Amino acid sequence: MLSRKQAVSIAAYQQCDTYAWFSQRAWVEIDLNALTHNVQQIKQCLSPDTQLMAVVKADAYGHGAVSVAQIVLQAGASWLGVATVPEGIQLRESGIKAPILILGATHTREQIHAIAQWQLQPTIGSPKQALIVSNVLETIQYNSPLPVHIKLDTGMSRLGTNWQEAGEFVQLVDRLPHLHIASIYSHLATADNPDPAIMQQQHQRFEEAIAQIKALGIKIPSLHLANSAATLADSKLHYDLVRVGLAVYGLYPAPHLQNTINLKPVLQLNARVTHIKTIAAGTGVSYGHQFIAPNEMRLAVVGIGYADGVPRNLTNKLQVLIRGQRVPQIGTITMDQLMIDVTTIPDVQEGEVVTLLGEQGDQKITADDWAEELKTISWEILCGFKHRLPRVGVI
Ligand SMILES: *Cc1c(COP(=O)(O)O)cnc(C)c1O
Repeated sequence: MLSRKQAVSIAAYQQCDTYAWFSQRAWVEIDLNALTHNVQQIKQCLSPDTQLMAVVKADAYGHGAVSVAQIVLQAGASWLGVATVPEGIQLRESGIKAPILILGATHTREQIHAIAQWQLQPTIGSPKQALIVSNVLETIQYNSPLPVHIKLDTGMSRLGTNWQEAGEFVQLVDRLPHLHIASIYSHLATADNPDPAIMQQQHQRFEEAIAQIKALGIKIPSLHLANSAATLADSKLHYDLVRVGLAVYGLYPAPHLQNTINLKPVLQLNARVTHIKTIAAGTGVSYGHQFIAPNEMRLAVVGIGYADGVPRNLTNKLQVLIRGQRVPQIGTITMDQLMIDVTTIPDVQEGEVVTLLGEQGDQKITADDWAEELKTISWEILCGFKHRLPRVGVI
């Protein structure tokens, strides 16, 4: 009954025989074909000289970092990007050999030890941090130079040294014995905005920084600037590598970028009907009776709630798919359960699958729909699904 899809057990995804899968109250399905498809689509819009870094921070935006990493590397990505040292170690422990850039800041002795030990590559955002890293490598008598990535701030005002000081900064790092500059990069603040003015200003500043560095006679290794939005918006921003997160997971960073390439959402959120009942007109539903049945209704309880990452703020606004039909959620969303109105489908059975995000028949609900309702972005929706939900790979 479940679907045309077949559950597969791969590497780190929940080892799921069919029975275990069917017995779940709620789960996240990861469409492995869609993941491969998205990587191929992204690769097609890059020149052959531009590499693809798949950004798999935050457990691959909630999709399961290890399995996603294995698949995207097979599909054509050659780098992985993570936010933290433990995220990098998790990938190494699973046997992944591809180069891994840590996009976040790392300062402590423990972090630098681990970076060296696990062959991760840190971002260096300031001269001070460069000296710390170099000193720690000195004390552990690290003998080959550690590849590091210089971060310049061209207008994001987050990590990195100001672009005007790029020459001096890069020269300092270049002279440190234990560090090898593997790339110079910056991050864009407004690449998803249809008005490219600020993005172009950042691009210009990045170019000025590169000119400064060249003028000092320092050999420029690799350069990178683009996230998903910039990758889709303008090939002049691609340089030697693009750092793509959201688009790998099949979502567009902005509506105006939807006609660029064909992406398919990778994540589907499902849960099961656990109880069905008829309620009389005037009956209150859930905490606070935020919904009162206007007439006799058929109500289904679904085994998923805000502790799984379904935002409580979607109460009475959420819609779900069951038997290919779109039905409304009713009453306050609770920690582990929520209620839906199935009056239009009177023969719904306990155990049936409800899709909260994804497709059933010709109906589709996306993370963008939730994001719009909640006045947030799809990135936050995707990484909000908790680990109580098993990740199940399907092909
Ligand atoms: C998260 C991140 C990305 C990926 O951004 P998307 O918009 O998801 O493509 C790229 N670069 C840096 C520095 C990041 O932190």
